[in-house]
Amino acid sequence: MDSKTLFAKAQTLMPGGVNSPLRACRYVNSEPVFIQNAKGSHLWDVEGREYVDYVLSWGPMILGHQDPAVSEAAHAAIDHGSSYGAPCYDEIALAEEISKLIPSIEMMRMVSSGTEATMSALRLARGYTGRNKLIKFIGNYHGHGDAFLAAAGSAAAVVPGTPGVPEEIIKHTLLAQYNDLDAVRAHFEASGDEIACVIVEPVAGNMGLVEPKEGFLQGLRDLCTQYGALLIFDEVITGFRVAPGGAQQRFGITPDLTTLGKIIGGGFPVGCYGGKREIMEHMAPVGGVFQAGTLSGNPVAMAAGLATLKRLQECDYAALEARTKKFTDELVSIMKEKGQSVFLVRVASAFTMYFSKIPVTNMIESGQCDGDAYATYWQQMLKQGIYLAPAGFECSFTSFAHTDEDFEKTLEAARNVKF
Ligand SMILES: *Cc1c(COP(=O)(O)O)cnc(C)c1O
Repeated sequence: MDSKTLFAKAQTLMPGGVNSPLRACRYVNSEPVFIQNAKGSHLWDVEGREYVDYVLSWGPMILGHQDPAVSEAAHAAIDHGSSYGAPCYDEIALAEEISKLIPSIEMMRMVSSGTEATMSALRLARGYTGRNKLIKFIGNYHGHGDAFLAAAGSAAAVVPGTPGVPEEIIKHTLLAQYNDLDAVRAHFEASGDEIACVIVEPVAGNMGLVEPKEGFLQGLRDLCTQYGALLIFDEVITGFRVAPGGAQQRFGITPDLTTLGKIIGGGFPVGCYGGKREIMEHMAPVGGVFQAGTLSGNPVAMAAGLATLKRLQECDYAALEARTKKFTDELVSIMKEKGQSVFLVRVASAFTMYFSKIPVTNMIESGQCDGDAYATYWQQMLKQGIYLAPAGFECSFTSFAHTDEDFEKTLEAARNVKF
């Protein structure tokens, strides 16, 4: 069956035909292609068309699809059973590896998604401090937990008012523009003794990629310390992406708690939250804060995650960053030659090329981008076998499996785009 037929059928069975809203491709005025196979840096759809993949499952596949070491580890694990609901060795091995790469995570809990990780970290921050309020940034996305669905980025940014989230819950969520330290300071001055935590994407990846300004993360660190609030880095995208030790390594700032997801599962559903031992020991069964999960620490997912982190330690992050820089700089100059105003944000192997006349440092600026120009670009790139994030306000990724031929093919396709 072709994608069009499948999508029609899917729409009768799932809202919008999808299991996650952005996949419906509405922001690029299109319909999704259905994927049948993925290997290395490439995807194949149900009609056999091949694509160079810059979505990479929204970030997890940093080694490319079907990395041999990861596939082998998952196959080997599944031959020992797919779930026990009891402790297993690979949970410890993966935890040790995470703690080695991100030393601020002295102790952690494995869960099954990034959403679960941030929800649990928030509950822990509230339980630990005995306070209810949190500060989050407009355009940052922390999964779909109630407390975070206020001006969340990604597809949630465009759902007006977010029905289904009670006012009693969201009133504890204080908002600030990304990169606006004064707004955060004002919240602390007004209600410092009620604020449990500040949660932030240390490099924002859900309103398009946005870099933290010089001093922003350090300023958050200092304010949290001063007012006795916890600083939570949501590194679900940035962990093992912007550096082997995540954004906290790249920028040299230590949070109290960190949330992880995407890459640590090697393509399987995994999330993780962790941090200072003294804080983590407030979790049950040691402490009183409750969180549990039937499939938490799933042996197949742990094996794939462990294999991924081991493989990543042999990978040359600086080389991928340099290749991605060269590729994206070239992409920008092609668009400029066509008379398009674009603004590139790239950190390591993540990037957004905004169709924008102004620099983008927060959600207000990201919201002013030309969605129609992006849709035109996206559709014509797809036709030429290039699979990019299906919204102008999302980031794209390269992987260690991307070849120079992939980049050359992508640049050639970009040269052919007509606006
Ligand atoms: C993807 C993402 C999440 C949610 O993770 P899921 O696995 O989709 O639940 C949370 N925070 C950030 C920064 C993300 O990018």
